[in-house]
Amino acid sequence: MTAGPARPATPRYDVVVVGAGLAGSLVAKRLGDRGWRVLVLEAGTRTLDSWPGHLDALDTAHAALAKVPNAPYRRNPAAPFPDVLDLTGLPDGGYRADGYFLQNGPLPYGSDHLRATGGTALHWMGLAPRMHPDDFHVRRAYGYGRDWPLAYDDLEPHYRAAERELGVAGDADEQRDAIGLPFPPGYGYPMHKIPRSYLDSVIAARLDGVRLREAPDAPETTLRVVTTPHARNSTPNPGYDSGRGHRPRGAVGTPNYGERCVGHAFCVPICPVQAKYTPLKTQATWSDDVTLVAHAVVSRVLTAGNGRVLGVEYQRYDDPASPAHTTRTAEADLVVLAAHAVENAKLLLLSGLADASGQVGRNLMDHPVLLTWGLLDHPAGPFRGPGSTSGLECFRTGPARRDRAPFRVEIGNWGWSWPAGSPSGDVSRLLGITGDPSQPRGKGLFGARLRRELGHFVGRQFSFQFAFEQDAESRNRVTVDPRHRDRLGIPRPVLTYDLSDHVKRGIASAKAVSDQLFRLLGAEDHTAYAPGTSAPGWFRHGDGAFEFKGAGHAAGTHVMGASRADSVVDPWQRCWDHPNLYAVGCGSMPSVGTSNPSLTMAALTLRSCERMHRDLTELHRPAALRLPEGRP
Ligand SMILES: Cc1cc2nc3c(=O)[nH]c(=O)nc-3n(C[C@H](O)[C@H](O)[C@H](O)COP(=O)(O)OP(=O)(O)OC[C@H]3O[C@@H](n4cnc5c(N)ncnc54)[C@H](O)[C@@H]3O)c2cc1C
Ligand code: SF4
Repeated sequence: MTAGPARPATPRYDVVVVGAGLAGSLVAKRLGDRGWRVLVLEAGTRTLDSWPGHLDALDTAHAALAKVPNAPYRRNPAAPFPDVLDLTGLPDGGYRADGYFLQNGPLPYGSDHLRATGGTALHWMGLAPRMHPDDFHVRRAYGYGRDWPLAYDDLEPHYRAAERELGVAGDADEQRDAIGLPFPPGYGYPMHKIPRSYLDSVIAARLDGVRLREAPDAPETTLRVVTTPHARNSTPNPGYDSGRGHRPRGAVGTPNYGERCVGHAFCVPICPVQAKYTPLKTQATWSDDVTLVAHAVVSRVLTAGNGRVLGVEYQRYDDPASPAHTTRTAEADLVVLAAHAVENAKLLLLSGLADASGQVGRNLMDHPVLLTWGLLDHPAGPFRGPGSTSGLECFRTGPARRDRAPFRVEIGNWGWSWPAGSPSGDVSRLLGITGDPSQPRGKGLFGARLRRELGHFVGRQFSFQFAFEQDAESRNRVTVDPRHRDRLGIPRPVLTYDLSDHVKRGIASAKAVSDQLFRLLGAEDHTAYAPGTSAPGWFRHGDGAFEFKGAGHAAGTHVMGASRADSVVDPWQRCWDHPNLYAVGCGSMPSVGTSNPSLTMAALTLRSCERMHRDLTELHRPAALRLPEGRP
């Protein structure tokens, strides 16, 4: 009998991590540093981690008509991703969704994500505030949403570890005084805070110390402009880490670039010099024990039949433009899903795993954003520096949370870019180009008059971005529908999304606050919400009409809890039903507070790495043999 050709053995690792975004990069870093053999499978391409690849993305963004978050990143039919341009508003309200996400909710889920090595944080804004301690127990304290099985104090050391890894610039004393965030005595961030923009100073000069009421019968709130912590390079803090200081990380592959934010004002979609943290910076420090395989779309988690998982099945393609691909498997002692809140839920649903509680895919959250915009009475210097450097933090917590969603107010440094497509929209308007081919071309302004008018108009623009806490609701969810598949045959996510009355009341309160802020600033308020093509998030509430946008902060699809009966993962982000399967990322967060979520997510992930290390150590501990009594 002749033996058949030897088949290549399925490669075996200690850990398989699905996704090379922020969460996956941190897991690979921590476990690789401890000597575990880690395989990272990444669905997207791997071009951004070389300087030529970065420049190519930058060129693509510059050439794009709409500078939306995904503008620099080439479409990839093998690993499709959503885009904010996929949504169109209808003339009388309502919306149409045409892209990767199938949507069937009363309101649209308005955020995108990115499937490429580095993930969504390639195009994040990089704001890195901590959650408020009250945010961890909103049901107990305020009667809505879900509680964490952890408290702020459990995460605090991991917040510091995340701030170190992301190189956060901030002012701990200001965060303590203005917001009430507890820090250990003497703690300072790795880098000094990003300085206030000129606009921040103008607004602070007019608002600091002013007291206002959200409603006539509401208590007074004292306004104060507070700088925001950022994951972008500023001046290193020499006192950091007991005087050891902090060395900022420059661009990947070109480290003398990007050691300082130089104010390009292009952080979303891409920082030209890479002064903003992206997971590529963490990947650049991975140990040799980490292997990254891009072009590898995980389609299923494989089970052993005893509750444990074996590894994953993935689809490997060479050319994003070709449908050709092969199905492969990878085995490991531990599988970590780090594919983004929506994709993690999709994978669990496709694998039929971790859903004894019936909560997989449910409790989808974002930070719905209300924009208001206006003109100051003198130039404010917009379109310089990061999109927001300061905000008003006084609406983040307090008894009003019982009645309406809390919110953060970001002061928008980029004029009317988000609400009205400035400055290119203003240039077109002043040139007399309406964008409607059926309309005759108007008589526009040219030369010195155009420049003067632009300077006068654009130079006075500012906006407020109100970001609301969205409460976990099981009806907001991700499901999969086998009738709708991507090019590799993997079902696409179906999203059902709406805003609760709690959130809508928050939006109405914030608009009332905004009206007062404009009056206090003596600014012309140009805010207007009308249904139409560019307003898919338009809705009526009470006597008012509003429009919300997505913040890109997908969360809550595999929520963490204290009991396996009503949550998907335990406080270590380990699936209750599968002891060697973790699902990490914002999907584990039971509530999101009002702070941008990624720093908290990073802290949570670093905390989970400790448990993963313990699990692996236990699995690999040499067996102790005890021979029966009396045997030599
Ligand atoms: C415009 C915008 C601005 C933002 N600004 C901020 C901000 O200022 N502050 C903040 O805190 N947060 C911000 N966020 C949110 C932040 O980007 C995300 O919370 C964070 O990037 C999520 O990290 P993640 O690793 O969980 O997911 P991702 O970053 O999405 O990474 C997931 C990775 O998994 C890969 N993947 C997906 N599916 C598969 C599969 N089937 N097989 C293999 N690999 C797969 C993806 O390609 C990707 O690389 C912003 C988001 C957007 C969209
Ligand atoms: S302001 Fe400019 S340099 Fe600074 S992070 Fe944003 S894009 Fe980069």
